[in-house]
Amino acid sequence: MNNHVTVLEIDGNALLHNLQYFKKKLNATTKVLVVVKSFGYGSNAVQVAKFLEKEVAYFAVAYTDEGIALRKAGIETPILVLHPQVQNLELLVAYQLEPNLYNFSIFNAFLKLADEKLLLNYPIHIKFNTGLNRIGFWHTDVPKILSEIIKNNHIKIASLFSHLAASDDVSEEEFTTNQINNFAYIVKQFYEHLAYKPIVHILNTSGIINYAKAQFDMVRLGIGLYGFGNDIEETKQLKNVFNLTSIISQIHLIEPGETVGYNRAFTANKPMKTATIPVGHADGISRKLGNQQYSVLVHNQSAKIIGNVCMDMIMIDITDIDCKEGDKVTLFNSQEMILNMAEVSETISYEILTAISQRVKRLLKC
Ligand SMILES: *Cc1c(COP(=O)(O)O)cnc(C)c1O
Repeated sequence: MNNHVTVLEIDGNALLHNLQYFKKKLNATTKVLVVVKSFGYGSNAVQVAKFLEKEVAYFAVAYTDEGIALRKAGIETPILVLHPQVQNLELLVAYQLEPNLYNFSIFNAFLKLADEKLLLNYPIHIKFNTGLNRIGFWHTDVPKILSEIIKNNHIKIASLFSHLAASDDVSEEEFTTNQINNFAYIVKQFYEHLAYKPIVHILNTSGIINYAKAQFDMVRLGIGLYGFGNDIEETKQLKNVFNLTSIISQIHLIEPGETVGYNRAFTANKPMKTATIPVGHADGISRKLGNQQYSVLVHNQSAKIIGNVCMDMIMIDITDIDCKEGDKVTLFNSQEMILNMAEVSETISYEILTAISQRVKRLLKC
């Protein structure tokens, strides 16, 4: 049991709102794959997947064990494993997960396994590198892939996909359009040689926002579901999903000249009241937020973090706030706060969310 008083609450209604918001940008027939990798962007992949199972066509995770956790929780929706590892392929099949095959070493390993296990039309996904240069086959690999696939009834291509490198950046429109066109040309070759039509997809959240015309058959929705678009206007249309709260463990009254925390980083210049909160850098609160760079909320009033962020605690200035030990403290409860935390931490919303460590209890509320 996780009885920590620091809790990350996940707002189910906000997830639904955000999903609907993106669905409205798409054709009615376009499928939605929801990305729940890395614990559902730091939320709770199992709870989010259970909650949204009836609303989506596919889920995606990064690694095989993330997919296994969903299957063990009873999720039956198809699950695409974006970055399966060769050594996990047997397990992947045992749990009916669908691999992304992105180069010939994993492609051949999977074909060998499918052959040995006498699999029939096992769904696989083929990813092409069209410019991100991360993982994916090259367009020049198409003839070889096709020749392997056409004579093989152990596997079936469930989807063909690629990933955009700069879908959030409209100044890179020419590059992105090129990626889309090159991908469309690859797809065309598959259509010409296959007796069936795999699902085709290239858009992530910011792709849906900026390049909806390239939605093909499916889109892969990640950060948008969790409340963040690629600009502030888009984010305002979305609802905040994450509320991170804790409580006041202890209150101190300190005199001028006294210091707070490690390295005596903060010195009081007046009589002060401070509160200690049981959340620290081991919970995902960056050390960059210390020394008055970030404010939390106590009874809706803002209270700066003073001194250095400790591993398990922070201290805050509550001199002007009427509160007592045990009272609730909000680390963030809006997109503005999360974006501010990201800015001060010198990172992006994705990292803030996924950095909230597994020690913090998750609660889905709807
Ligand atoms: C993480 C990921 C996504 C989701 O991206 P967002 O920007 O969060 O929407 C989509 N596709 C792939 C291949 C990914 O790795």
